[in-house]
Amino acid sequence: MALLTKAPRGTQDILPSGIDTVRFIEDIAKNVAESFGYSEIRTPVFEHTELFQRSVGETTDVVQKEMYTFTDNGNRSITLRPEGTAGVIRAYLEHGLFNEPAPQRLYYVTSCYRYEKPQAGRLREFHQFGIECVGAGTPAADAEIICVAKTILDDLELKNIRLELNSIGCPDCRKNYQAAIREYFGSYTDTLCETCNGRLEKNPMRILDCKSPVCSKIAENAPKVTDFLCDDCREHFEDLQALLKANNIEFSVNPNIVRGLDYYTRTVFEFVSDEIGAQGTVCGGGRYDGLVCELGGNPTPAAGFGMGIERIKLLLDEQHPNLVPAIVPDIYIGSTKGKPEELAFLTAMKLRAEGLVVITDTVGRSIKAQMKYANKIGAKLVSIFGDSEIENNKFNVKNMETGEEKSVNYEKFADLVLKITDDMVMESISATDLF
Ligand code: ATP
Ligand code: MG
Repeated sequence: MALLTKAPRGTQDILPSGIDTVRFIEDIAKNVAESFGYSEIRTPVFEHTELFQRSVGETTDVVQKEMYTFTDNGNRSITLRPEGTAGVIRAYLEHGLFNEPAPQRLYYVTSCYRYEKPQAGRLREFHQFGIECVGAGTPAADAEIICVAKTILDDLELKNIRLELNSIGCPDCRKNYQAAIREYFGSYTDTLCETCNGRLEKNPMRILDCKSPVCSKIAENAPKVTDFLCDDCREHFEDLQALLKANNIEFSVNPNIVRGLDYYTRTVFEFVSDEIGAQGTVCGGGRYDGLVCELGGNPTPAAGFGMGIERIKLLLDEQHPNLVPAIVPDIYIGSTKGKPEELAFLTAMKLRAEGLVVITDTVGRSIKAQMKYANKIGAKLVSIFGDSEIENNKFNVKNMETGEEKSVNYEKFADLVLKITDDMVMESISATDLF
C-alpha cells in the first residue's frame, strides 16, 4: 500500500501552500531573462542516451551513476534529462537556429532527473531555471549571463550569496594542467576515495569536485588551474573580471571550481549560500565552447547557467518566510437550492470575468455551514443568496474583516462588490510604505 500513497524517494510534491513561492521565483527569473532579450525554449523530458553521454561526458558522476536510463518498447536507449543544456543545444542544431542572427539567447524552466542520495537541497527530480547564450565567445557574453543570474537573485531580495569565479582554460592549456594535478594527486592514492582513484587516469580535474571531506582537504593544495592558462584564456579571464568590477559585481576567484559536467571551457562560476546547509550552490554555469562541435555542429562558442529552483526556494523560505501571499477569495457567494443557487452561479461567473476570485457552494452545505466555510478559507466578502433576497430584490454584502454590511438591489450588486474590493486593494497598498 505504501507504494500507492508515498512518492518515490527524492521526489517532492508542491502543494498549493508552496506553489506561490515557486511561481514567484519562476516569474522573476523569466522576467529578468526576457529583459536581457532571452526567449523561452522547451525541449523533451527524455532524449537519446547518447546525447548526454556525449555532452555531459562519460567520466562524470552524472553519466556514470546518476542517469535515469531505460530501453523503450522500440528498443531505443532513452534517458530522462539530467540537465537542461544538452537538449537545448540538440534543438539548436536540429532546427538550424545557427542560421538565425547570433547569439541565440534562450532560457528554460525544466525538471531534471538524477539518481543521487536525497537530502535537503538534493533531489532525484528537481527543477532548473537556465539560460544559454549560443554563438557568443566574448568575456562580455560571460558577464551578461552572470548579470542575469545576479539580477534574478537580487530581484528575489536574497542576501548573503557569494559569486565564485574560475577559468578552467581551453583543451590546450588544460593538457599541462591535467598532467600537473595527475602528478599531485598521484602521491595520495592511499587516501583518496575509490571514485577519485578511478578519476586519476581518466579525468583528474574531477577530483577537485569531490564532495568527500578527505578528498577536498587534499584538493586544497593542488596546483591551481589559473596558473596554467594560455595567453588567450588568461586575457579572456582578466577581461571578464574587469567587466564585473565595472558593473560593481562582487566575486572571488576560486581555482577549485571545476563544475560537475565535462563540457565547460574557460569561465566557470557558482553562486553559493551558507544558509541552506551543505547543498549551498544555488546556481552554476560557465562557458562551453566545445559542445556544439561535439554534437556535430560547426565550432560555436556558448555560455549559460542552471539555477536550482528548490535550493532557491529553501533560501527564500529562510530569508523571506511571508513574502508571497496565498490566493485569497475576494468573495464567497453562498446560496440555498433552486433559483438562488442558479443566480449565485451566474453572478460568480460575472464577477470572475471582472477579475475577482469567487467561490460558491459545491457540496450542498447548510447556510450556517457555508458561513463557517467562507470564514475558514479567508474570503474577504460574503453574500448569501436565498428566496427572500430574490423576492425583495435586496442583497447583502458582508465585509468579513470589519463586519460591516451593505445591501443593494441585484442590478447594483456586481458594482458594489467591485467597489468594495477595489477600496480594499487601495487600503492595503497605502498601508504598505510604497508611497
Ligand atoms: P552539485 O555540486 O550540488 O551536485 P552540480 O554541479 O551537479 O551541483 P549542475 O549540474 O551545475 O549542478 O546544476 C545546476 C544547479 O542545479 C546546481 O547549482 C543546483 O542549484 C541545482 N541542482 C543540481 N543537482 C541538484 C539536485 N540533485 N537536487 C536539487 N538541485 C540540484
Ligand atoms: Mg551534482
